[in-house]
Amino acid sequence: MRELVVATRNRGKLKEIQAVLEGVVEVVRCAADFPGFSETIEDGLTFQENALKKAREAMLFTSLPALADDSGLVVDALDGRPGVYSARFAGEGAEDADNNQRLLEELAQVPAGQRQGAFMCVLAFVTPDGIEQVFSGRVGGIILTSGRGDGGFGYDPLFLVDGFNRTMAELSLQEKNHISHRGQALQHFRAFLEQGR
Ligand code: IMP
Repeated sequence: MRELVVATRNRGKLKEIQAVLEGVVEVVRCAADFPGFSETIEDGLTFQENALKKAREAMLFTSLPALADDSGLVVDALDGRPGVYSARFAGEGAEDADNNQRLLEELAQVPAGQRQGAFMCVLAFVTPDGIEQVFSGRVGGIILTSGRGDGGFGYDPLFLVDGFNRTMAELSLQEKNHISHRGQALQHFRAFLEQGR
């Protein structure tokens, strides 16, 4: 594929996406670099709805094939919350530390053994000629009672990754990208593009 626009303002995500798509997409552009492009209102009830809405708006604005992601943390003991509200769990404009604090408070009475959760990611790919395809990734883990590690972002310090004795914030960036929900969804997208070549 020659050109793809990614509907994100997050340069870290853009870099990760560029790295995974190297060799299959010639130019990966950022929607935020298009003058007048405004951020999509994420009012969907699912990751898929939000990802599709972002990708459709970016495709319509740029007339290019567009990719968008939506992701978050789902916690079993909270019936799947914070889910699509992960970024604003502690309220509009909340910082990571506020959201982590809220998570710890809500899980305060939940014993070890019932603190399972997962990071989920849905990627949506939408093209001007009508293709709409979604790809997903998931990584399971346990919510600790206090944070460990200083890598990553968001809920990473509280998330002990299944199969590792480390939190997401204790993994190197390469390790995280390899196993993460977003990394997995991106690998599925890359495989889809490779099949179509
Ligand atoms: P978005 O997909 O960028 O809107 O992310 C939604 C929110 O989910 C973020 O603000 C984080 O709180 C959380 N989140 C998503 N992915 C991760 C991750 O890899 N680590 C930690 N938190 C994450």
